[in-house]
Amino acid sequence: MTTSIPATLIPGDGIGPEIVDATLAALDALQAPFEWDRQVAGLGGVQLAGDPLPAATLDSIRRTRLALKGPLETPSGGGYRSSNVRLREEFQLYANLRPARTVIPGGRFDKIDLMVVRENLEGLYIGHEHFVRIDDDPHAVGMATGINTRQGCRHILKYAFDTAIATGRKKVTLVHKANIMKVLTGLFLETGLQMYEDPKYKGKFELDTIIVDACAMKLVLNPWQFDMLVTTNLFGDILSDLVAGLVGGLGMAPGANIGADAAIFEAVHGSAPDIAGKGIANPIALLLAAALMLDHCKLPELATRLRIAIDQTLNIDKVRTGDLGGTARTVEFTKALVSRIKAG
Ligand code: NAD
Repeated sequence: MTTSIPATLIPGDGIGPEIVDATLAALDALQAPFEWDRQVAGLGGVQLAGDPLPAATLDSIRRTRLALKGPLETPSGGGYRSSNVRLREEFQLYANLRPARTVIPGGRFDKIDLMVVRENLEGLYIGHEHFVRIDDDPHAVGMATGINTRQGCRHILKYAFDTAIATGRKKVTLVHKANIMKVLTGLFLETGLQMYEDPKYKGKFELDTIIVDACAMKLVLNPWQFDMLVTTNLFGDILSDLVAGLVGGLGMAPGANIGADAAIFEAVHGSAPDIAGKGIANPIALLLAAALMLDHCKLPELATRLRIAIDQTLNIDKVRTGDLGGTARTVEFTKALVSRIKAG
């Protein structure tokens, strides 16, 4: 009997509770040994505790060091910072892992198997911004500061290189803009090239470098030339959505936020307020995030069973939600998936 694994569960906002219910049904069918501590955040946190990231939620993650979360809305007005950014900072979740794998064959881009590794704590994304007033225009100038550190670059590059070796990736492409942002992203490029000279890495995989704009074009022209991309925060944010588009859109894109001693798993997409409560959300992104969580907890057999069951439900049973061209409601997809898990 596997010992139980304490984990924090944040259903989140919008479609969050619907896709979390689907994911819990699948994990139950797999008899995954998570012992959930249910907490709120985002709009739910504001409504229940007056804070998008209540102290009880933070305490829970401090205890479990492991969370599965639905999408969180940042309430507009009230000066709230994004709960997602606060969670990454609080638990120093420096690596954002976003795999994109073709699940439904025969689309415009077939047989995609790409990993995007995004730095999660630094760069232009840190949100250190301000306006400068000129005469009577308080917003005459907008300014943002980006910060990359040698240590932050080392952390993420080491994570990417180690993961490439551990998962048998043949090529790592370092994405930068060092031709223009010679300091901010030049530091990232320099650190990566230096680190690759370490005998621990040299020759274990091929290291390539590319400017971010060229990378965007090449991803659309020929995505198969890439294997793993590693990049700074903002470029990673943009490229991982592009890569999600190659495999059927945001409904299929899972994400893992990894730190030295905590990890939070989520779908890449947001709370989809336009379809919330309609029962038509695609739960696959969060299900695939749960598969990453099972891998992280050293339960790869359960992760594989979950991925196979998703594949069978989509491609043999042809049960698909509307965003994938099907007619199934979330609960119908979940029912078919649970049958496949139990039969597997
Ligand atoms: P979104 O990802 O919520 O929605 C974009 C489009 O994709 C919508 O048309 C939506 O219906 C569709 N979509 C998204 N997920 C889907 C799914 N699982 N099944 C079917 N269709 C799906 O992006 P948005 O509208 O820009 O953001 C809405 C809110 O979510 C905002 O408050 C934003 O800040 C928040 N957000 C949170 C996270 C997170 O918690 N990680 C990420 C992104 C956005």
